[in-house]
Amino acid sequence: LLQLAMPLNFLGTVYREIKQSLVDLEMLFRLGAEEAEIKDRPGAEELVVQGGTVVFEDVRFNYDQRRKVLKGISFTVPAGKRTAIVGPSGAGKSTISRLLFRFYEPDSGRILIDGQDIGTVTQSSLRAAIGIVPQDTVLFNDTIYYNISYGRPNAPSEDVEEAAKLARIHDFVSQLPDGYDTAVGERGLKLSGGEKQRVAIARALLKRPAIFLFDEATSSLDTATERDIQRSLSDVSRDRTTLVIAHRLSTVIDADEIIVLRDGEIAERGRHAELLSQRGVYAEMWARQQSGEEEDRGLSIRKASE
Ligand code: ATP
Repeated sequence: LLQLAMPLNFLGTVYREIKQSLVDLEMLFRLGAEEAEIKDRPGAEELVVQGGTVVFEDVRFNYDQRRKVLKGISFTVPAGKRTAIVGPSGAGKSTISRLLFRFYEPDSGRILIDGQDIGTVTQSSLRAAIGIVPQDTVLFNDTIYYNISYGRPNAPSEDVEEAAKLARIHDFVSQLPDGYDTAVGERGLKLSGGEKQRVAIARALLKRPAIFLFDEATSSLDTATERDIQRSLSDVSRDRTTLVIAHRLSTVIDADEIIVLRDGEIAERGRHAELLSQRGVYAEMWARQQSGEEEDRGLSIRKASE
């Protein structure tokens, strides 16, 4: 038995290694969800991206029949504009990004990119059009260079460096003894949450997607890191359609539209100043954040029932 167990054990290790190197990073990024089996429809066409306008049209969605998670969400992110989604924990914010990346399909309603229903196009063309910066970036056990260039394999090294500069990770990498050849991940240099997120921004940038989907980290980053990430995000997303699941005021203040989600519905929408003057949910979130009542300084509020 022992003789059999050894090679099996070895095979298991090899399998894990192969699996890890083949796995699509964006598939790894499940936005916290178990991925449902969504397949291309027969005859699905390639998504043709022009400006990258994203439209949610009365989207309803439940993970299971017992509870409605999105109860008729409609909004438009015009090409090149930035929309921020804020709201209490569990309101359905991440669900919106999972639907846009088509990990799930709406129960009713449609999601359109440049007029094409994302349910009718190939998954590969949809995912090629969207650059994701997840909350928790998974890095390959490989070099920093590999981890960035994964966004567009075979990109010239100048482009990789340029992306790293815009993501404000280049200076950090340059001062490492092995520079871009530094091994990272579990078996290499451990990067901080902020550094990993900047690698993810560089990777997304290198991909040159029409649409950015940015899931801001909820965990507290120190102020300087937060500011750096913020700057990289605005550099990267300038003139690109951007949807941010936002937890920080600094992200939403400049947004072209802020959508305040509560219990699966849009409670309020508008720009920062408009929402403040409405003295509603958003104004309350702002006041709480200002008073430092929220420990994590996150843009969330406890539900009245909690
Ligand atoms: P947070 O700010 O805490 O990340 P959120 O607004 O992003 O919250 P979602 O992750 O979109 O909230 O979740 C919306 C609701 O759907 C929650 O009540 C959550 O429990 C539920 N939910 C999320 N993922 C699943 C899943 N895979 N299966 C069943 N229910 C889920």
